[in-house]
Amino acid sequence: MKTPAPKTCEVKVEGRWQAASLDEARVTYRDAPKRCAACHGPVYVTGTYTSTGTLALAHRKKHSGCPLIGKGFSGTPSPHPNALS
Ligand SMILES: [Zn+2]
Repeated sequence: MKTPAPKTCEVKVEGRWQAASLDEARVTYRDAPKRCAACHGPVYVTGTYTSTGTLALAHRKKHSGCPLIGKGFSGTPSPHPNALS
C-alpha cells in the first residue's frame, strides 16, 4: 500500500477519483465526495478558513489501519471498513 503525502486526498469528479490538495478539496471540490488516498475511507478537511490557516485531513470514522492518521496507526496498513469506491 502506498503512503501518499498527508496534505492530499482524493475527490470524486464526474465518477472518477482524482488527487487533490486539501485546499483544492476544500474550495474547488467542496461538494464532491472525498476519501483518504491511503485507506480510501471517507474524509473531510479541517482547519481554519484563513489564508494562513493550516488544513488537515480527518477521517469521518477513525481507522487504525491507515498510516495517515498518525499516532493511532496500528502499524499494519489495511483498507478502511467503509472505503469509498
Ligand atoms: Zn486513511
